[in-house]
Amino acid sequence: MDFGKRRDVAHLEEGVSYTVINSSASRYKFHEGIQRLIFMPMPMVSKKNPRVFADPSRKGGYDWSFELWEHANIAGKTYVCPSSYRQPCPVCDAAKARKAAGETEGLPFAKHRAFFSIIDLDDIASGVQILETASGYPAKPQFPQMLASIQSMFDADPDKQAAAPGAFFADADNPLIVKISCVPDTTKEGRKYAKISSIELVPMKPAEKQIMHDNLTKVIVFDNCIDIKSGAELEKIYTGDMDEDEDVEDVVSPAIIQPVHNTPMKQPIVPPIAPSVTAAPIVPVINTPAVNKKDFWATDDDSKEDFPF
Ligand SMILES: [Zn+2]
Repeated sequence: MDFGKRRDVAHLEEGVSYTVINSSASRYKFHEGIQRLIFMPMPMVSKKNPRVFADPSRKGGYDWSFELWEHANIAGKTYVCPSSYRQPCPVCDAAKARKAAGETEGLPFAKHRAFFSIIDLDDIASGVQILETASGYPAKPQFPQMLASIQSMFDADPDKQAAAPGAFFADADNPLIVKISCVPDTTKEGRKYAKISSIELVPMKPAEKQIMHDNLTKVIVFDNCIDIKSGAELEKIYTGDMDEDEDVEDVVSPAIIQPVHNTPMKQPIVPPIAPSVTAAPIVPVINTPAVNKKDFWATDDDSKEDFPF
C-alpha cells in the first residue's frame, strides 16, 4: 500500500487546514485504561483534502490522518478555515486584529485538528469510527505527531523489526495494532478527560487483520465529509450578515458572535496562530446526523464539488 511521503513524515505540511466532518459514523473517544485500535488507510480522493490541494500528485494515494484548520466558535458552528487551502481567512485576520487591540478572551483563532478512521478491537460491532484529536502544535506534539514518532521508533528497533518486519500501523498489507493507554486528567478549565500515557505498536494477528480487511470499504473518506466556505462567505457568517434561513441548527458550541465591522478584512495570507493549548482533550466537534452518503470508499468527484477556491 502506497502511503507516499506520509509513511515517514512525522510533522505536518505547512498551510493545511480543514472544516467539520459530516458523517453518520460513530465517534470514538479515548477512555481510561488500555484500548487496542486499528487505524484504517484512507484514500485521498479530491482537492478538498488539504494534502491533495497542496500536492495534487497525492490524489489517489492513501493517508492515515485527515488534518485541517478549523474555527469552532463561529456563530455556534464549526467551519473549515480557508487557510487550510492557503486562502485568506477573514476570521483569522479578525482574531489577530482583536489580539493586537488588546483583547485576550474568546479570540476566534483557528485550531488544527486531525481525524482518523479507526476500529476499536474491543467494540468491533461499532464498525469504523471517527477519532478526532488535536494536532500539530510545534512546541507540543499532539497525537498524530506522537503516533508518527512511535512508528519511527518501531522502524528503528531491531527486536520489533524481527517480530514484524516493515510493518506500518495503517498499512492494510502489513499492519500493526495501535495500543493506547490513558489515565484520567483534568483540563485547565476543570473538565475531566482521558490523557494518553503511552502508545505502543504491536503485531496484528490474522483474525484482527481480517477485521481490518473486512472494513476497508467502510473507511471514512473525510474529503467527502466537509463543506468548505469561501472567505467571503465566512466573513458574512462571522459578522452576522447572513440570511435568516442559513443552517444554524447544528449548534456545537455556545454561539460567540463578535461583529468586527471595523476590522480590515482584506489582509495578506498569514497562517493561523496555533493557540497554546496543553494536552488538549479529545472532543468531538459535531454530532451532525448523516446526510452525506459519500463518506465511504472513494470516488473521484472533483467535478461535482462545490469547491470555492
Ligand atoms: Zn481562519
